[in-house]
Amino acid sequence: MDATLKTPKTLQEAIVYFSDPARTFEYAKHYRWPSGEVTCPRCGKAKHSFIKTRRIWFCYECKKQFTLKVGTIMEDSPITLDKWMTAFWLLANAKNGISSYELGKAIGVHQESAWFILQRIRLVMQDSFFGSKLGGGPNREVEVDETFIGGKARNMHKHRKAKLTGRIDDDKSVVVGFIERGGRVRTRIVEKRRKYNMQPLVREEVEAGATVYTDALKSYIGLENDYDHQVIDHAVEYVNGRVHTNTLENFWSLVKRGLHGTYVSVEPFHLHRYLDEQMFRFNNRKNMNDSQRFALAMSQIGGKRLTYAELTGKDTDSLHEETTGAGETQIPF
Ligand SMILES: [Zn+2]
Repeated sequence: MDATLKTPKTLQEAIVYFSDPARTFEYAKHYRWPSGEVTCPRCGKAKHSFIKTRRIWFCYECKKQFTLKVGTIMEDSPITLDKWMTAFWLLANAKNGISSYELGKAIGVHQESAWFILQRIRLVMQDSFFGSKLGGGPNREVEVDETFIGGKARNMHKHRKAKLTGRIDDDKSVVVGFIERGGRVRTRIVEKRRKYNMQPLVREEVEAGATVYTDALKSYIGLENDYDHQVIDHAVEYVNGRVHTNTLENFWSLVKRGLHGTYVSVEPFHLHRYLDEQMFRFNNRKNMNDSQRFALAMSQIGGKRLTYAELTGKDTDSLHEETTGAGETQIPF
């Protein structure tokens, strides 16, 4: 980055910093095109002219204009960059998250717009683990545990509900968590807590040979074939030396505090995005200050884009369905 481009350190500094449109533009440009070369989001070429007064480029190849937002999660959004930046800052750093109502008030947009902003930022927070398993490095201890997260999927047909939530027959979502002691957490949403759908996930997420700590749920029986499987029976005790799942319990309490406190309730088909948000903050909580966490989230703005249909789970034939939760009406801005 340009050495003159200082990074704000606190929320207050960030708000002041991003109140200058030219500076905000330079900052966002750096994260949009980290190599420093501005390329057309349509053709990928760097042959263009820049219209400084309007902060847009004209591509000589496509004969079309493009802005900084094209090809990013901010595409099609009339919300100004300074508001986006502040929203990034808040979501990346607020321990319990921030509701669309709070964000709307903080940056001066409608709650519906704030909801859309938050969902898009959660998308860039999505961790791409790219096949790397937990428990493969020097740290071989992995806790595996599952939790139930409630929420009613209203006004949705059963098949759609099942498709979106992976959940068919009750009103709770089952989330399986995997956490490497001293390391990262991952979550997966499953349909049922059965051996046949739990164990393949453990094998996908955890390197064979690692020490795996679980509770006494029968679905975990058999893991001893591939792992050093240690069981803590919660009917008897919660900790036995190193055998416990308390690290994961801490993560679940963060997730639930956010869901019940800040967000009140979450539609099941949005649950994975809330989990992405929580995992982002949890996995980047150490050795990183607010400024760096914000920069990390910002560095993922390019190449990810969430359409309204993907966001809401609505396609054209179901646009009349009413799917609102937590007073959060889903309309694009
Ligand atoms: Zn082009």
